[in-house]
Amino acid sequence: MTFYPKAEKLHNSAAFLTATPTRNEYKGMRALDFKCQCCGFKAVPTKEVPTAGMEFVTVNGKLYLLCLLCAQSQMLSRPVTLKNGKLEYNHGCLVYCPEVSQGKIIEKVRDIYALALHESKHPNRPLLAYIDELKQSYIELLIKRVSNIPALKIENNYMGGYVSLYKFAPPELLEKGNKVFGGIRYLPNDLVFSHIIQYWLDTSYTSLPYKI
Ligand SMILES: [Zn+2]
Repeated sequence: MTFYPKAEKLHNSAAFLTATPTRNEYKGMRALDFKCQCCGFKAVPTKEVPTAGMEFVTVNGKLYLLCLLCAQSQMLSRPVTLKNGKLEYNHGCLVYCPEVSQGKIIEKVRDIYALALHESKHPNRPLLAYIDELKQSYIELLIKRVSNIPALKIENNYMGGYVSLYKFAPPELLEKGNKVFGGIRYLPNDLVFSHIIQYWLDTSYTSLPYKI
């Protein structure tokens, strides 16, 4: 399955951590071991956050368990609920990068964001230099490639253009989805998702303080 950004708004409610899964959803999440079927991330549920930051999303007619970052890539029109309860529609940007899968991009940026969040609370100069290097070699490199998107008549990497193009595209174009949009990837914004990253940092990256 190839995941590439979809402009749809499959779920009305924005992704937020305190959402309560239905009994069946929770059963399904447990059966799939809380593992994202796009990026492979394994989340850990807690009493306060029973979804562990995961949700079920239907992509091309098939149901997948996705982490909130991968899920958001399939629902660009959906706003993200910030820590203060406000809704953020500008939650990331788009890049053109056919050779790296959406899941791989999410996997990498989650590690970088989690490391940066850890460093912000435990200042460490060599680590900060390492994070900057990671950001430059990965995130900035991806963003630089944005000049390729004008092929789709999108002027910049702002999602709005893509969302409206997707919304008003003739059905024949959408049918060729993978061919037309398959090279585009979603890059989530670290600040918008910081509360979710913080949860994962506390629950899934538990060995991190000992590693660095
Ligand atoms: Zn994921």
